[in-house]
Amino acid sequence: MKEDEANSKTVAGSPPLIELRGIEKVYGDGGTARVQALQALDLAIRRGEFAAIVGPSGSGKSTLLHILGCLDRPTAGTYLLAGQDTSRLSDRELSAVRNRRIGFVFQAFQLLSDSTALENVMLPLLYRGVPAVPARQRAKEALAAVALEERLGHRPGQLSGGEQQRVAVARALVKRPDILLADEPTGNLDSANGEAILKLIEEAHRREVTVVLITHDPQVAARAGRVLRMKDGRLEKKC
Ligand code: ADP
Ligand code: MG
Repeated sequence: MKEDEANSKTVAGSPPLIELRGIEKVYGDGGTARVQALQALDLAIRRGEFAAIVGPSGSGKSTLLHILGCLDRPTAGTYLLAGQDTSRLSDRELSAVRNRRIGFVFQAFQLLSDSTALENVMLPLLYRGVPAVPARQRAKEALAAVALEERLGHRPGQLSGGEQQRVAVARALVKRPDILLADEPTGNLDSANGEAILKLIEEAHRREVTVVLITHDPQVAARAGRVLRMKDGRLEKKC
């Protein structure tokens, strides 16, 4: 996969980083609880793109992001990540891909409440087997990059919402992921703190991280290079 990666940066006509073909997602069983959250969804995202996903509540945006992030599997269809068919990967392999390639930022921050900022940011590196000393050093650098070097020992409850989301951004980027996925990352923040988070995401994009961001805010979507509109589990037009 490392070789594919190097090639896809340089070879014209190389496969997209993300390619979905005929993706369906059904929640629940055949009974009344059955929800078709995604249907007949085709999408290709090239390495280095910054795409925003917009659409009404319930249109399947988060479901799509979970599938892109290998947090969930589609019910049908094919998801090729860097040319590799993810349906052929075991759950264990899928979580390794997720840990190595993909960073997440969620609306509700989703930090571990009993752990310090530093511990929260170290965790993905420890999962990956990075020894504690370099993990600590990289986590400190990631927190310094979001201007939180003075808050290493604070727990989430001792931080403002804006600071918590900056910790979450540091936790996502400390892995040096290929892909950053963000689900309404500014949704719980005031405009100044939201702007700080967007700037960090834009910086990551300038460093060639591929970004997919869900938002309901047209001004946020306007900052992406491409806007994908969802409705009733489908992308509105060929994107
Ligand atoms: P959005 O993020 O655009 O608001 P979601 O992807 O969260 O939409 O949801 C799409 C549809 O799937 C909705 O109808 C929602 O109720 C349903 N849904 C989402 N997650 C689940 C789940 N875990 N179990 C059952 N239904 C779900
Ligand atoms: Mg959602």
